[in-house]
Amino acid sequence: MKGEAEKIISKARKEDRDFLLEPEAKRLCALYGLPVTRFEVAKSEDEAVEAARRIGFPIVLKVVSPQVLHKSDVGGVILNLRDEEGIRKAYRRIHENVKAKVPGVVIEGILVQEMAPSSTEVIVGAIKDPTFGPTIMFGLGGIFVEILRDVSFRLVPIERVDAEEMIGEIKAYKILEGARGMPKADKEALIEILLKTSDMLMDIPEIKELDLNPIMVYEKGAKIVDARVILEGAKG
Ligand code: ADP
Ligand code: MG
Repeated sequence: MKGEAEKIISKARKEDRDFLLEPEAKRLCALYGLPVTRFEVAKSEDEAVEAARRIGFPIVLKVVSPQVLHKSDVGGVILNLRDEEGIRKAYRRIHENVKAKVPGVVIEGILVQEMAPSSTEVIVGAIKDPTFGPTIMFGLGGIFVEILRDVSFRLVPIERVDAEEMIGEIKAYKILEGARGMPKADKEALIEILLKTSDMLMDIPEIKELDLNPIMVYEKGAKIVDARVILEGAKG
């Protein structure tokens, strides 16, 4: 495993967490070459403004807290901020929202990130099959996964041809090809994401579950907007 990856995981363990915070999960992804949104963690309102200027507007702010796994459920995500005033207000609003919903919450910081333009959303996930080990999953976001369960699975490691098949075999494949006026998806970018995710899963057995959801896919390139990693093993 890469030294930096080990550090991220051992920090979570030390803090008695069985999941990675979004900035940790995205850093891990970035180590394996996965295309995550640009981000910084701010510890104050002024830092958030500075980070937003470096990253460029529009911006998304999100809560970073060991007590919060589902950020939007507690008012911890504010999208599409366009200027300094917007950042300052949203920074305070997230603190208020999260404190009201999660009594005693510890907020480690506010994640400042690039807002990815909306597009077709896909999901790449991973779970461990008790018998066969890590499996990787691909599907389209939203109702396609949640209601239609239109997904494909493979055991890892996968090769390029497996990644191509995974993408081609979902029922909604035509949407990725640009049916009904949807943008034609950059299939090569998706293949790369599947292959690099497979590498990461092979390299880090501590990953129990992975959820890259959603991934915005464009005619050129793709962007991972949210990343969740659940770690193997009970809390110490
Ligand atoms: P949660 O922890 O609730 O899953 P997310 O980080 O997934 O929080 O944010 C909720 C939703 O907000 C996402 O599903 C996506 O639709 C939107 N979103 C979050 N971050 C971004 C971003 N950087 N660019 C564009 N949309 C985003
Ligand atoms: Mg999410």
